[in-house]
Amino acid sequence: MTSIVVLGSTNMDLVAYVTKAPARGETVTGRAFRTIPGGKGANQAVAAARAGGEVAMIGAVGADDFGYRLRDVLEHSSVDTDLLRTVEGPSGTAHIVVDDEGGNAIVVVPGANATVTSLTAGDEALIATARLLLLQLELPLSVVVEGAAHAHARGVRTVLTPAPAQPLPPELFDVTDLLVPNEHEAVALTGRTDPHAAALALLDAVPEVVVTLGAAGCLYVARGAEPLTVPAPRVRAVDTTAAGDTFVGALAVALAEGLPMPDALTRAGTAAALSVRREGASISMPYRTEIDAALATPESLEND
Ligand code: AMP
Repeated sequence: MTSIVVLGSTNMDLVAYVTKAPARGETVTGRAFRTIPGGKGANQAVAAARAGGEVAMIGAVGADDFGYRLRDVLEHSSVDTDLLRTVEGPSGTAHIVVDDEGGNAIVVVPGANATVTSLTAGDEALIATARLLLLQLELPLSVVVEGAAHAHARGVRTVLTPAPAQPLPPELFDVTDLLVPNEHEAVALTGRTDPHAAALALLDAVPEVVVTLGAAGCLYVARGAEPLTVPAPRVRAVDTTAAGDTFVGALAVALAEGLPMPDALTRAGTAAALSVRREGASISMPYRTEIDAALATPESLEND
């Protein structure tokens, strides 16, 4: 049985490193270039599989080299890709310029992701057997709402990462069981600048909320329960790319295995802390054995 299904995006990140980003009409010479497999959906799928989950991915890649590589990354982490379509045209790409001050400018071209507009009968059947469905906002909103509604109606717990930040329709809130925004997304959704106030405001729309707070950890609120803050392990952060996706993937596995929320959040925070110590997106995500070892000896995280 597949316990976790991800309905989400695959993207190839094309990253150019420059001293200073070019102005309009200007050409500059870059220092380096990297292609980094990503997309929030694929990142969450890899994170969950590495954390020990049985994971399947629903989405689409293009019929191009990037598509082969994106599928390969998922399969190498044991993500079931039987329902990942290969469609005519290009894979999703993110064109990223990173300058010496760490600032960036990004153009996302959805490509194949834009073709995932509705569920197939096979998608529906798979989702119905899962424990959790993970969703983000990099596929067309219509299929995100359809997937969440289908899962919710069948008692499959829906976990939504509201990224990239955008206003959400009430019908999506209605079928979201657990919302996991970062601080910026929580503010964008509510207009409240304080994360506690934002989290509590979101409880009007969904029953449970986890706001991730970067190096400060996370905040959990649920209707009728005391708010809970879970600090993040202190680590030397090298690259926080996909820390949020690592957090959600590991959280999903812990919840699918029946862990109580406080323990699940501790596992998720440990997995995310391990990922920020290494460069890259999916390649920085820890395997279950590493998460277990770090939980057993938390001081080991700080020391190296
Ligand atoms: P963010 O998307 O920045 O809120 O990060 C998601 C999660 O990753 C946080 O809730 C933390 O558990 C973890 N995380 C991010 N940055 C750091 C950091 N510098 N040190 C430790 N954990 C981090």
